[in-house]
Amino acid sequence: MHAPPDGPLHAHSIAETFLFAQLTYCPHCRRRPVRPAERLRATGGGRDPWLLAVECAGCGRGTELRFLIDPPPRSPEQPDARINPTPARSDLIDLAGWVTLARGIIDGAQKTGQRDERRDLLLEAEQCLGEAMKFFEPGRDDPCDDAFFTEASRARAKEHPDAFSRSTIVALRSKLPTGARGPQIKPRRPWWKWW
Ligand SMILES: [Zn+2]
Repeated sequence: MHAPPDGPLHAHSIAETFLFAQLTYCPHCRRRPVRPAERLRATGGGRDPWLLAVECAGCGRGTELRFLIDPPPRSPEQPDARINPTPARSDLIDLAGWVTLARGIIDGAQKTGQRDERRDLLLEAEQCLGEAMKFFEPGRDDPCDDAFFTEASRARAKEHPDAFSRSTIVALRSKLPTGARGPQIKPRRPWWKWW
């Protein structure tokens, strides 16, 4: 839904970096979403950024997304299934992004013939809606003023306010399993194979 901003992007997990990439449009032609060209890779130790090479599905041009991940991931080979192990809301993906991701993932779950994969996808969608809930003040059905990060998101929210209300998100979330809240769940589907 957006082109990547300049500078490193602040993520809370490897999962969030891939979900962000899924919503990101090509910075060159701005017409098509990017796709990961390879796995996320560390550039050093500690707080050095992680790099995700992506390429455009349309014009084919490549670019690199640079992420700072906090808390630092243990291993890109075995990413934690939790999208955000902290109570902080996302700096990268706004309310419209989380709802879009959740709906897309639920759609993918309905299409797969594999029971385990379906459950993993529904757990992932549930987490996306949990992240969406962080954009509401207690007791309010309409989102915070800063819940949308881009003009495109704000326009969508204005056009479809019901799609981004707390009650809509709560209703959608209530149909999903909630096992992903436990730290023991591991993803069977590698994040980089979403495409
Ligand atoms: Zn392009």
